[in-house]
Amino acid sequence: MAKRVPAPLLRRALVAWYTANRRDLPWRRTSDPYAVWVSEVMLQQTRVDTVIPYYERFLERWPTVEALADADDDDVRAAWSGLGYYRRANSMLAAAAQIVRDHGGALPHDVDALVKLPGFGRYTAGAVASIAYGKRAPAVDGNVQRTLARIFGIDGDVTSGPGSKAVWNQAAILANCDEPGDLNQALIELGALVCTPRNPACEQCPVRTDCVAYAEGRQTSIPPPRVRAKKKEVELTMVLIVRHGDHLLLERQPDDGLFGGLWCLPMLEGHLDPAGAADEALRRHGFELDGVEEAAELEAILTHRRLRIRIVRAHGGPARASGAMKWIALEALEDYGIPTVTVRALRAALTPDERARATLKDRRNAGARPG
Ligand code: SF4
Repeated sequence: MAKRVPAPLLRRALVAWYTANRRDLPWRRTSDPYAVWVSEVMLQQTRVDTVIPYYERFLERWPTVEALADADDDDVRAAWSGLGYYRRANSMLAAAAQIVRDHGGALPHDVDALVKLPGFGRYTAGAVASIAYGKRAPAVDGNVQRTLARIFGIDGDVTSGPGSKAVWNQAAILANCDEPGDLNQALIELGALVCTPRNPACEQCPVRTDCVAYAEGRQTSIPPPRVRAKKKEVELTMVLIVRHGDHLLLERQPDDGLFGGLWCLPMLEGHLDPAGAADEALRRHGFELDGVEEAAELEAILTHRRLRIRIVRAHGGPARASGAMKWIALEALEDYGIPTVTVRALRAALTPDERARATLKDRRNAGARPG
């Protein structure tokens, strides 16, 4: 059962703590709804220090919703390369077009209108509405979920069902105030810096005197540790073909696939012999191959899958690629949206000369995420 803590007292303690302790992050220096939206999308499942340079480059290049709606999709995906969860970029493009078409280029103020946009969940809508427009809307991400569950002693699973409902209800009560943006960010920041999943720093917490989990010594059991689903093991063969030492064959992935809209080495699931895999991956495009050899192996962990990747180098192929296939100059690779797993495969399998020519972006972000 949730304990009744007076909301005004909690709000005051949270906002005062946030005012004194908040990190100076680029998106906190603006209330531009578009900038808030970009930051919230990039921050999903991605670390703050990884997001900062991507956020700054993105806003410099596409400073408004209109600019993003007019952008070349491939340019946006290229700018997103390395951030992972590429569907976020595709959703942003679709949402930008819809905002221009239906809302005159301005993000709507209301949560109800925001959640109808592609890629907007309840959290993103609440964050934009409260931070950019001062609307009294809750915004519950993983940090807020955990923090509120502990403060109010909400037992059981808080990711769905009654537990989730209880958390959102408490968040809505707290956000029903004069500074909902600060209140929501205070909860997000407290969860990120103090009320962390393991070993929360309760002695530094501004609400510890009101916290059920702290009072009962149950910080590590609220919320209960999540049982992670076992990752699916996938065998993948990637086919590397370099023409004249300077052009690489890449294939644009279907929009609704794992690497939606991104450029990857032609690839095939399943354990086949190298020649069979190369043949199978390219035959559907009418390619004739002159020879195939094994080039490298690597493993990659995505959100739900563990990939065992074998890269084979094939020789041949037509002078002109068509359909989803394209010969891309090694020097021009940075202009294309290429997932991290493909970049790793290229680093592993290109020859030193080819690697020297290839403009492969530095992927600094770590962690398990698609790409
Ligand atoms: S007292 Fe501890 S468990 Fe409670 S909200 Fe603060 S950091 Fe989290």
